[in-house]
Amino acid sequence: MRVRLRNPDRVVDVPGRRRVSELLDELSIDPDTVLVIRDRTLLTREQAVGEDDEIEVRPVISGGAGPRTPMGCLRCRAPAVIEVRRHHAAFCQPCFERHVRTQVERAVGAFDMFAREDRILVAVSGGKDSLALWDILLEAGYRATGMYLGLGIGGYSDRSGEVAHRFADVRGAELIHVDLRGEYGFDIPTAGAKGSRSTCGVCGLSKRYVFNRVALDHGFDVVATGHNLDDEAATLLGNTLRWQTEYIARQHPALPAREGKVKKVKPLHRLSERETAAYAFLRGIDYVVEECPLVAGNTQLRYKDAMNQLEKGAPGTKAAFFLGYLDRAAERFRDDTGAERLQACERCGQPTTGRFCAFCRARAQMLGERLAPPRDDQLVRELSNEAMPAEVYGAGPAA
Ligand code: SF4
Ligand SMILES: [Zn+2]
Ligand SMILES: [Zn+2]
Repeated sequence: MRVRLRNPDRVVDVPGRRRVSELLDELSIDPDTVLVIRDRTLLTREQAVGEDDEIEVRPVISGGAGPRTPMGCLRCRAPAVIEVRRHHAAFCQPCFERHVRTQVERAVGAFDMFAREDRILVAVSGGKDSLALWDILLEAGYRATGMYLGLGIGGYSDRSGEVAHRFADVRGAELIHVDLRGEYGFDIPTAGAKGSRSTCGVCGLSKRYVFNRVALDHGFDVVATGHNLDDEAATLLGNTLRWQTEYIARQHPALPAREGKVKKVKPLHRLSERETAAYAFLRGIDYVVEECPLVAGNTQLRYKDAMNQLEKGAPGTKAAFFLGYLDRAAERFRDDTGAERLQACERCGQPTTGRFCAFCRARAQMLGERLAPPRDDQLVRELSNEAMPAEVYGAGPAA
């Protein structure tokens, strides 16, 4: 059989007939980190694949091994298309879609994320999570508008933009498209090469800034992002290993609005990456499978790897870690949120604790622009504590 592997793309020929689990074992692939697809249909690990089959093994970067799950759907006993190991369950397609929607409804209800009449801005990257989220919200009848931010990462960004637009066109949904270079004069590859932040650091900063700004300008009530359980568990692990208590305190599925910041929510935080990938696939959503070419610098991947190792030995570890944090530990970090007073950035008006917001400072650094000079001695002292290149503020009169 021909087996197509992704990231990087390659094809291997495997002789003979065997079960999916045996095939993955031979290829040294953790079955819970991939979807196995034949003729646009998902295969469970107990199904057999034969000599003439063409198989795609599509990575989802997930985890969760454990005892064998039954072949029948947990709810209706129809043949299962997917196992969810941490629930010791398998589902047929309709029951799996229902399971996914139920998890989202639970998340929305438990954290009072939004109401029927709210206008939701969905941060759409073109990947499985954000498109699955948009699909779920639209199907449930919410007023969900997508927003795609063009990061300028070559063909990867072009393809991501195309799938986001196609998704919107097919459903007749509204999509706001903002181009970082067109609107703000820089793209992410340039920012990574020029600025003092890491590429992913400036990318994350830009996304947070632009989504908030667009939401405010267009009168949206809330910004929804596609962060899933794997993302949240990995981030919590990273923050905990360094005891970054302020970040831990802010890692919440619903951050309320405050002074110039729109409410932010994560309705997929109860679902693993494999579940969102399977949902997107089963719903026929065409998403970008390839990874961002700049992902090598993303430290979160190390924590995802570590969580996957733990999950492999003890299914349910990720959910116990992150959902357990929300249930039993989040409250203890509440005083660490560092809720300083915010004021308007002198350049763009967005909220910030200093004189200029982090986005304007990073942008000025990249573009070699000068922000206004310090106002007085006290401010000079304040700024000297910030990691700020002198050329950003300049020494002369206000620009
Ligand atoms: S991997 Fe890094 S640079 Fe690429 S989209 Fe994600 S955060 Fe941005
Ligand atoms: Zn069923
Ligand atoms: Zn600003």
